[in-house]
Amino acid sequence: MEVEVKYSSIGFGITCIDTQLHRPNMVACYLIEQDGVAGFIDTGVGNNVPMLMSLLKKKGLAPESVAYVMPTHVHLDHAGGAGRLMQELPNANLLIHPRGARHMIDPSRLQAGSLAVYGEKLYKKIFGELVPVPPHRVVEVSDGYELDFNGRTLTFFDTPGHARHHYCIYDPLSKGLFTGDTFGASYGELNRGRTPFIFPPTTPVQFDPIAWKSTLERLMTLQPQRIFVTHFGMHENVEMLTKLLEQSIEEYVAIAEDLKDTENPAAKIRDAIMGLSLNILLDSDCGIGSDQIKSLLHMDMELNAQGLAHWLATR
Ligand SMILES: [Zn+2]
Repeated sequence: MEVEVKYSSIGFGITCIDTQLHRPNMVACYLIEQDGVAGFIDTGVGNNVPMLMSLLKKKGLAPESVAYVMPTHVHLDHAGGAGRLMQELPNANLLIHPRGARHMIDPSRLQAGSLAVYGEKLYKKIFGELVPVPPHRVVEVSDGYELDFNGRTLTFFDTPGHARHHYCIYDPLSKGLFTGDTFGASYGELNRGRTPFIFPPTTPVQFDPIAWKSTLERLMTLQPQRIFVTHFGMHENVEMLTKLLEQSIEEYVAIAEDLKDTENPAAKIRDAIMGLSLNILLDSDCGIGSDQIKSLLHMDMELNAQGLAHWLATR
């Protein structure tokens, strides 16, 4: 049976796939092709594998033509499907940040960590059992690694800030960066106002605002013309978005600092960053009301607050 897949072709041999995880237009992954050789950047979760295989078929690409699976980092909305996907792709290697490799080979700690964040019921529904990747198929890519992707040189950069196991990939053909979570999250539904809306996913447990700022500064020296963001899609106003993101990181830090000595800071931080988002969106006439904004941002703000509270407690 044909599995339905929602995707859009961006040009430059790049396809944006909507994994439909949580809701449409929230979690993307990308297929990149160069003269018959293909790679996936981010994978969605295990349940997304049939969808990704169906896309290959639609594009006339054999599973054997996929040479690389490249999760930007090991958070499960980016890498949760990697193990299962590798089982379907006989010639693929998994390219991963050196700090993420052991979690792909033995996902038990990753699974335990995500169980703690999401709770058992939600975890099982969304992510399911993780499949280990055989060690001989795992390639650790360190800062500055250059991949000859069938004549197209992709460069990998170590990009701490959101997570210490995060890399971004620069593609000279599109002059674009595959940014995972490093250039924040920016949803189409919330970008209809006068200014775009972008926020930092400060997901537990490795938020590092200082590292994040220098990562952004460093990547901007590449002068990317577009960014391919996991949450969600391609954006071309890179300079403006980066400024807004840096501002937002600073505001988050100030909010967390303010609330650090209160009881149950996570709940208070959640309400405060939701309030901040509402103000920004309503001020820019985003075209949707508070209730809808809250429902679109509810899960992100919950995770962000947990991450900020963890940062306060452990920095
Ligand atoms: Zn992440």
